[in-house]
Amino acid sequence: MNGNPFERWDLTPVINASGTMTFLGASRVPAEARAPVDRILGAFVDMDELQSRAGAIIARVTGAEAGCVTACSAAAMTQTVAACLTGTNLSRIESLPRSEGERRVVLPTGHIVNYGAPVDQAIRLAGADVVPVGAVNACETWHLRDALENGAAAAMYVVSHHAARENELPMDVFIRICRDYDVPVIVDMASEYDLTGPVSLGAAAAIYSGHKFLSGVTSGIVAGKSDMIRATYLQHRGIGRTMKAGKESVVGAMAALEIWEKRDHAAVRAAENARVAFWMRALSGLPGLSLDSHADWTGNPISRVRITVAPATAGIHAWELADRLAARRPRIAVRDGLVERQEIYLDPCNVTDDEAETVAEAIVEEVDRAKTAGYGRRMTWSDAKSIREASVLSWPGERDAS
Ligand SMILES: *Cc1c(COP(=O)(O)O)cnc(C)c1O
Repeated sequence: MNGNPFERWDLTPVINASGTMTFLGASRVPAEARAPVDRILGAFVDMDELQSRAGAIIARVTGAEAGCVTACSAAAMTQTVAACLTGTNLSRIESLPRSEGERRVVLPTGHIVNYGAPVDQAIRLAGADVVPVGAVNACETWHLRDALENGAAAAMYVVSHHAARENELPMDVFIRICRDYDVPVIVDMASEYDLTGPVSLGAAAAIYSGHKFLSGVTSGIVAGKSDMIRATYLQHRGIGRTMKAGKESVVGAMAALEIWEKRDHAAVRAAENARVAFWMRALSGLPGLSLDSHADWTGNPISRVRITVAPATAGIHAWELADRLAARRPRIAVRDGLVERQEIYLDPCNVTDDEAETVAEAIVEEVDRAKTAGYGRRMTWSDAKSIREASVLSWPGERDAS
């Protein structure tokens, strides 16, 4: 039997210049992290014991008292909120999403983002009620105090490039005020490199994805205070059952964290920066495309190439260019979350040097072709958006008969 899934099931190969995207399979998991996963898949293990070993690694890496592994960050958000509603009361754990008593979870309005699904839904899944604080572009201390005054079971703080940054309450201020009211703070840091910050500031729990920058298998990592982590872990006897972390997830997260501890971060960064520099050179001559090296929005140590398209000169809109790249084989995925602003970003983290060359050649080719053939600038953003919406609903799509 052919062990190559791309050949065996006719899958489209993807060059991923977009970053760690769940919808593209998140990360390239290194062989070193896959080996222990493969071993545990062929064996039995006491899951309580495995999770306690994982907790020790999480505690070491994050500086937290304790830790546990969940199916993913979204599951961790739901289960940490659940922990704040039930504590370690097993009867209450089994009763969720119904619960007596305080159910309010406060969070800044500008943090109610969509990472592929909405933040507020991950909270409501536990049976909690969401209380947005402040406006999208203004969350002030008085908004937070006022909300906490009315009572809250938990507060959530989301660090994400999607979150609104304008007049945002800094994390340290947010945590300090919540502690004044004895309200535990859950920090969602799913795609952030800073593994120690929130815990050191006094967050009750900090959440990371094992499959994003950590390059592990699909998993969520929760670090925090012992009582909070115990109550989070015990949710596997309740709503956590529907979002179960299997032995492969737990071992995968453990391996990823240990590899992260030993990784030569400076060397990885140098290789990523070299790819950015290569793209800047390779694309510099293209009329209508302006380039700059753009530091990560939330302060992760990554730079990306920002391509700003001037459609009148380039002969193509940014969304058309992204679509053309995606239609190639292999598919080239660029970071296209801001194409409506005529911006495309190239992320160096998940491409090889050869793939980086292919990406540059493809962009040059597509811009040249759009210009000579004159097919660009036909589709407005409104057209492109409605096509994108329709394609969401057209799953599973059509397969060619060949
Ligand atoms: C990716 C992401 C999530 C969801 O992470 P999963 O582990 O894929 O469930 C949650 N919050 C933020 C801020 C994210 O970036």
